[in-house]
Amino acid sequence: MKKMIIPVLLASVTINTHCQKPEDTEDWSRKPEVVTPGKGTLPPSDAIVLYGVPGDLEKWESERGGPPTWIATQECLTVAPRTGGIRTKQSFGDVQLHVEWRTPEVVEGSGQGRGNSGVFLMGRYEVQVLDSYENETYDNGQAASIYKDHIPLVNACLPPGQWQTYDIIFRAPAFREDGSVDSPAFITVIQNGVLVQNHVEIKGTTAFIGKHKYEAHPEKLPLSLQDHKNPVSFRNIWIREL
Ligand code: MG
Repeated sequence: MKKMIIPVLLASVTINTHCQKPEDTEDWSRKPEVVTPGKGTLPPSDAIVLYGVPGDLEKWESERGGPPTWIATQECLTVAPRTGGIRTKQSFGDVQLHVEWRTPEVVEGSGQGRGNSGVFLMGRYEVQVLDSYENETYDNGQAASIYKDHIPLVNACLPPGQWQTYDIIFRAPAFREDGSVDSPAFITVIQNGVLVQNHVEIKGTTAFIGKHKYEAHPEKLPLSLQDHKNPVSFRNIWIREL
């Protein structure tokens, strides 16, 4: 029977292709906007620069209210330990985010106490920043983990004192009117050019204790950076709304 069916199917495909023209599958419905890529890791032309070279903190505020207390220099922005995290004044939903970070060259502490900070999408979902170069801690708490949610695929960390990059693609969660989850958040993270989180589903708001779960929130919220009492530095932070 197989020998009978195959010739019939092939004949059908041949006839269909003959009926079509190349332009039948051309889509002219949306001309992509022209974007000029940045050189290296610099922002592309349509990015919102959250922290650029001059040390301008205009787009940030302290999570405790008022202007940021972190130390801004010409080179970078550094956590002023125990003064609280900082967040953007602007709110964001789906984004592409580029962040460069550096843990202290002089190593102090161990485990979670060594070069700890974090990039909090929507102020809730943490991509861990940690000195995870030859530094043991729980796997879902090391650098590039979605903290206590997803272990990174690999450890792509550079030694302490070196600048490292995160390129993050984040899709915000959506909620129904009754507060239940309509669609969860998803995140992809590339660290130093290496894929470390591949479109993973975020389980809920990051928590130190207990299972993560969602709490309904607005479509857009500020991005925040964590003060975990360690003088971690940041530079070249830019974001593109998707
Ligand atoms: Mg952290």
